Amino acid sequence: MTPTVTVVGSHPVKHEPGFKDRLLERLRRRSAYAPAIREAVKDQLEAGIELISDGQVRGDMIEIFASYIPGLTAEDEPAVIGRVEPPRSSPLVLDYREAAETAGERAEVKAILTGPVTLAHSLRLETDLYPSTDHPSLLKDLSRALAAEARRLREEGAEVLQVDEPVLSSGAVEVGRVARYINRVLRAFRGGTRVLHVCGKVTDVYEELEEKIKADVLDHELAGHPENLEVVASGSKPIGVGVVRSDSERVEKVSEAVRVLERAREELGERVEFVDPDCGLRKLPRRVARRKLEVVRKARDRVFS
Ligand SMILES: [Zn+2]
Repeated sequence: MTPTVTVVGSHPVKHEPGFKDRLLERLRRRSAYAPAIREAVKDQLEAGIELISDGQVRGDMIEIFASYIPGLTAEDEPAVIGRVEPPRSSPLVLDYREAAETAGERAEVKAILTGPVTLAHSLRLETDLYPSTDHPSLLKDLSRALAAEARRLREEGAEVLQVDEPVLSSGAVEVGRVARYINRVLRAFRGGTRVLHVCGKVTDVYEELEEKIKADVLDHELAGHPENLEVVASGSKPIGVGVVRSDSERVEKVSEAVRVLERAREELGERVEFVDPDCGLRKLPRRVARRKLEVVRKARDRVFS
């Protein structure tokens, strides 16, 4: 089977919503970020990406969620300021809808959520309702809020959910102690394909991820972290393979991405499910991001033709 070309998520387009944008969003008519989402979708379609994102244009992976989940705030620094609860309505559904309508038949749109563990570790605590940001009570409430989002996005038509948990490769948390909170979010996406993306070097945690996380696909960096391949090859789950770096403005030659992907195919065979950049591209100049996406598509075509 030919693996699908996808993105990890964020794309460098910016839009500062005006009064009318905010009003339309409040009325649930359309996303306040619709102009930026359409630009992000256009770039991905032009590069030949088959499973696209809405560009995650609302802010960074923490701000997006801190800005609307009850109990959190994104003012100044993202923080917990009260009891965390499932949101009554979701701006992410509007973003998803905008991307899906823009893409039409040309691509599928995946839903993307920052995982509860990474969120918890990135928030300041400004309430005494929770003892600490790594306390099970906060992780539980965050996972409930995110599970509600996963359910909504599935109902909206998303076939693929990706949960991002970069903190799992940092050594700051034990996978076994937090797996249940991540799994609660993944489980809520009933009947769809569930992906866990963990950035960086995963050699110390990969085995535990396979064993304890109920994801259908694990997505990792192989361009910036070629050492990941050996441990990934020891497992058995389908894999998303990063073939260009997201932390460097240098645009790789197609032949470089081909080499990364060929090694992955040799070691993983049929397990290669997705081909993508290592991580989100929001920190790169837009023209660089576009060209990197083209390189990913060309590499996939060359290796799997
Ligand atoms: Zn990443």
